[in-house]
Amino acid sequence: MLTSPTKMFTTQPGFRLLTFAKESTTQLITSAPMFTVPPEVQSKRLSTCRKCEFYNVEFGTCGTPLVGRALTKEEIVEIEKANTITKNRSKIRLCGCIMKLKTRLTFAECPVNRWGKFINLTNKQKAEIMSFVTEVRERGYLNRADVEKLYGYGEQVSGQKHEVKMCPSCVRDMIDKIYRTLKEETK
Ligand code: SF4
Repeated sequence: MLTSPTKMFTTQPGFRLLTFAKESTTQLITSAPMFTVPPEVQSKRLSTCRKCEFYNVEFGTCGTPLVGRALTKEEIVEIEKANTITKNRSKIRLCGCIMKLKTRLTFAECPVNRWGKFINLTNKQKAEIMSFVTEVRERGYLNRADVEKLYGYGEQVSGQKHEVKMCPSCVRDMIDKIYRTLKEETK
């Protein structure tokens, strides 16, 4: 179960800091294209964020904005407190990042596991995943280790994290999803 942060920072100074971070981070990203994901991956990530209860519509951030260089120690503590949520009885900190920028980065991931790091798969890796998926599809039975491997492959193929579920229909859906995605790519 998730609990939402209760406080949002919507003041004018916060907005100025956000603008500063946008410019500097954009420069960093454009100077390092090898760290950016394909547009369709970014678009999927953004659409997940925009449906998320922690997405801050006003700033386009994950929770309360935690950006800029002029925040005081007290402000940082207060923002971090506002961005601390509870999931399955564990405390998790929302990142406070600008999602239009963060979703472009290959190494970025969602703090509550709704999307993961992007791995640009080689043809060899794709063939390996396809062979596993085809094999388990025909076999019709998967043990726990197979299911975990399957979900790991699912994350690599989609760039999205999925909670591992053992129910037969969830496993079948995951197999079909990976199969379809890889088939699409090889068309
Ligand atoms: S990064 Fe995750 S927690 Fe943050 S807004 Fe996006 S989906 Fe929600």
